Amino acid sequence: MEDNLNVVIVSPILYAQFPGFMPGDVLLGLKHMGFDHAIDLSYYIEMYQYAVEEFVLENRKAHRPLISPICPVVIRLIVLNYPNLINHILPLRSPAALVGDKIREKLSHEHGMAEKDIKLYHITPCHSKVVPDRSKLMDELSYVDHALGINKIFPGLLAKMEQVKKLELSLFPNEHFSFVPSSRGPLWGMSGGEIAGMRIDRVIAVSGLKETMAYLEKIEMGLFSDMEYIEFRACTEGCLGGPLTAVDRYMAKSTVQKFIKMFGIGRRLPRRKIRQLYDKGWFFSKLKPSALTGIYLSKKKSLTIKDMKKIEKLMSLIQGNDCGACGAPDCRTFVEDVVRGEADLKDCFKMR
Ligand code: SF4
Repeated sequence: MEDNLNVVIVSPILYAQFPGFMPGDVLLGLKHMGFDHAIDLSYYIEMYQYAVEEFVLENRKAHRPLISPICPVVIRLIVLNYPNLINHILPLRSPAALVGDKIREKLSHEHGMAEKDIKLYHITPCHSKVVPDRSKLMDELSYVDHALGINKIFPGLLAKMEQVKKLELSLFPNEHFSFVPSSRGPLWGMSGGEIAGMRIDRVIAVSGLKETMAYLEKIEMGLFSDMEYIEFRACTEGCLGGPLTAVDRYMAKSTVQKFIKMFGIGRRLPRRKIRQLYDKGWFFSKLKPSALTGIYLSKKKSLTIKDMKKIEKLMSLIQGNDCGACGAPDCRTFVEDVVRGEADLKDCFKMR
């Protein structure tokens, strides 16, 4: 009798960490590490992209430009530093939230198990998603039991994949992993991957924390109001440059480009079916913009003169460059959170 069913939701950025291996090898390697199911996000990414198109085309009166809700560092940055832009954030759930919402129910039905016995793991390049205090604020991670950084799982997974490569793949039945060849998933990790192939005219992608801040300031000033949608990523080059990745971002980018050459970026899902789910409200986030303000700001204790002195000391200790790797929008916000006791200094990679 199975006790728990261990299911891993795989960020497609993981595939780009293994040049010379196919996405299917990665999913099979995870199975050999002991996961019962490895769920590829590509399908859900495609669903999300359809939903974005529907929303943008239907809500002509919504604020422009609409802002991607995907990068948690950008969302936090907006709430803390650009609150006038909160209503520009697209109110849709991320692909990981979409899969997290349905997968327990589906597997519990298939395996005749209680939903509580299905343990969901998420492998991610994003530090914001593995810091418990921050990740629980995120819609997508409210479904997940454990979030793991790619860098933690990388050495063990590589060893398993090398073993598996020597075996006959046909020995392993397909139902244990679900990957459909398409580059939409791997492309998602690159700056511009979210908007690639979207049927919306005026879209741009911006990556890197400094660039993001510069563009948010411009939007606050009223610029770019002729744009429909902007994909923002706090990490340079997008999630391939995430702090918990295992390989160099440009090496990873080259692997993604190979996938694009091999698989293309065509769509596989019928628009009509996605539209039905959209009409039922399945794509919409339960977190309203006003709730975001409450979540991020209500916790803030005011700072004393003594706190300010500690902040200055820590600022000179970390000598940060606002990389955003800790999940805070900038070093000062992070250090303030440390002094308030709401963040751990070890969350700054320079302090590890
Ligand atoms: S760009 Fe960086 S901070 Fe934003 S979601 Fe990706 S990994 Fe996380």
